[in-house]
Amino acid sequence: MNWISRFIKPKLKSLFKKKSAERDDALWQNCSCSKLTLKEDFAKNLFVCPSCNKPHPLTNKQRFDLFFDDSEYQILDYGRPPEDPITFEDTKKYKDRIKKAIELTGEDETMTAASGFLNAVPITVVSMNFSWMGGSVSPRVGECFLNAAEHAIKNNHKAFVMFITSGGMRMQTGNLSLQQMGRMTIAMLELKKKNILTFSIAAGPVLGGTTASFASVADQIYSESDDYLWGFSGKRVIEQNIREKLSDDVQKSKWVFDHGQIDKIIPRHKLRDEIYNLLSILLKLKEKEEAEDRGNVTIDKSIREIA
Ligand SMILES: [Zn+2]
Repeated sequence: MNWISRFIKPKLKSLFKKKSAERDDALWQNCSCSKLTLKEDFAKNLFVCPSCNKPHPLTNKQRFDLFFDDSEYQILDYGRPPEDPITFEDTKKYKDRIKKAIELTGEDETMTAASGFLNAVPITVVSMNFSWMGGSVSPRVGECFLNAAEHAIKNNHKAFVMFITSGGMRMQTGNLSLQQMGRMTIAMLELKKKNILTFSIAAGPVLGGTTASFASVADQIYSESDDYLWGFSGKRVIEQNIREKLSDDVQKSKWVFDHGQIDKIIPRHKLRDEIYNLLSILLKLKEKEEAEDRGNVTIDKSIREIA
């Protein structure tokens, strides 16, 4: 081996390696089960791994595209309170963390709200993205949520669907974040007063103040995986307090379902149908359709009688 093969070849090799790795990333989706899926097939399977059925996290846009009829919806704009109300800084400035989260996700806050239809039933949907600062709730998230609830009430929507994943309240906005727990819970009560059905769906881990407020007061509470965490304090904190080791399944959705806090585990590809089925029963949509059909028959009969 001469100096050329010793030095140039590995360098060239690494160049090729880099390019092929980039090509792989563009084409293939990896999963924790270590199986690769073509990204095209992965998207067709609603971003769920076909090998192990693990639902992969979605951006809010992806969630809306999958959930609304024909991927058509209107994003609800809301007024924005100051982004950094207490000029917070720890190891990084809060403003820098915001910039990084926007770059990472392409979304301007962890929560986005949208208005559209589910099988022609008008609904409002809010969705959270855990990659955006751990789905933490800030005053802006509170504004987004309240605006969405007002929109549902003003437009006489039939359901308010929440895809929730959140580590709790955002510490970088201090007490102002904690206040959102009360505001968002009041908004949920207002929706209930107007007979708008509320659905809380765990779309990833749901913890802290989020579980302790709006996520737990919906009419129906679902999880799209039996593996997502649902709880208030972290498991380690509980173990330290009670001085006892908890089993591995504690706080996972299946365990929470078995203990009555979650109503149903519904895989991602069944969510639209399950929610619509419940809505159609509660809103008596099928009976109305049948009544309309009967009405048409009566008209036909009367026409025949006249004839
Ligand atoms: Zn997998």
